[in-house]
Amino acid sequence: MTRASGAAASPGPKRLIALTGIGQLLTLADGPSGARGGAAQGALGLRENAAVLIADDRIRWVGARDGLEAAVEATRDPEGAGDVMVEVHDCRGRAVLPGLVDSHTHLVWGGDRRDELELRLGGADYEAIFAAGGGILSSVRQTRALSEDDLHRAALARALRMRACGTTTFEIKSGYGLDLETELRQLRVARRLATSDGLRVKTTCLAAHALPAEHRGSADGRARFLAEVCETILPAVVAEGLADYCDVFCDRGAFTPEESRQVLGRARALGLELRLHANELGSTGGARLAAELGAASADHLLYLDDDERAALRDAGVVATLLPGTSLVLGKPYADGRALIEAGVPVAVASDCNPGSCALESLALVLALACYGCRLSPAEAICAATHNAAASLGLAGEVGQIAPGAAADLLILATDDYRDLVYHAGSPLIAAVFQGGRRVA
Ligand SMILES: [Zn+2]
Repeated sequence: MTRASGAAASPGPKRLIALTGIGQLLTLADGPSGARGGAAQGALGLRENAAVLIADDRIRWVGARDGLEAAVEATRDPEGAGDVMVEVHDCRGRAVLPGLVDSHTHLVWGGDRRDELELRLGGADYEAIFAAGGGILSSVRQTRALSEDDLHRAALARALRMRACGTTTFEIKSGYGLDLETELRQLRVARRLATSDGLRVKTTCLAAHALPAEHRGSADGRARFLAEVCETILPAVVAEGLADYCDVFCDRGAFTPEESRQVLGRARALGLELRLHANELGSTGGARLAAELGAASADHLLYLDDDERAALRDAGVVATLLPGTSLVLGKPYADGRALIEAGVPVAVASDCNPGSCALESLALVLALACYGCRLSPAEAICAATHNAAASLGLAGEVGQIAPGAAADLLILATDDYRDLVYHAGSPLIAAVFQGGRRVA
């Protein structure tokens, strides 16, 4: 339904979008402004029979339906002049929540690893495949071979599928270049998804993802590669403004805590904030390092003791769980329940990557966080919206439905948000709004 009113003599009507008849509105707007741990993680700021008014790319107003007309009037300029067009969407009792925030992806890659998937399903071990030159190194070869345009085409196709599944904000890492040119190319593609394709993106340089083949087999290869990351790749990435964060794969078979500290220290000196792949394959020191450095996020965390949980909490590090990877690799799930009980803010992300987890639906991964990591549905929603946003420095901008926030939100095809877990994997995302536009 469209309604127009007002006087003439304006440059054109102001366009507003009103969502009415919302059965459950998950605002995520009631708790602390930063990342939420403990009981605060389960508070969804639920409003029933609510309405939302969107002006341009922002949430303008949230309230009960009978306040909508006054909210529309309040958008007029002080003289009351100018047309106002209101496009009304009746949600017919369905649930509405913020667009999902995927705070850990490796979205820009070349080729695929479907053959490796079959090897793993046949019993081969991920670390053994990696040691034999497959795994990450296979994606490095395939990514280095692609032009920026070809990488962009592949990444955009994935990102649009992810958005149709509810993701409106993406963190995107490099790490399939492991050399200057390809790392820059991956990050340029990630930036382009924001500047020309309208996606909301934060970027992370993960040049220290694996030791590249050309540096293997010689005694000083590791030191030479780390020097290249610190003295060549990171400075070039920063000079071109291509990254918001630096990440390191700190784990068995990748980089030690000492090596990771070297890279992250250099990144911080260059002005980047920090994230860390930590404690995925063992108790290998990454979580402690993330706490020591005050990283924005420590990710994976399959192996964690009480002291490490306390250290993460005290340092204000968001624990980002990636249960899709546990599913695909047949690994244990991170203990999300223990993290929540320890008061550590928990985020959930897809880890979308060509090898260990190519799942694209964060809504599905959110459900895995319940079944595998023992989060409640409400905790998992907060993990994939507000807490993920907080880990990306976007708290209040996305991950909430509140006046002033970006108009990124989802209308579900059901009246109860818990169906995202109860009926995990079903097509429950009825509409996706990004920046005030319906995009899916
Ligand atoms: Zn990852």
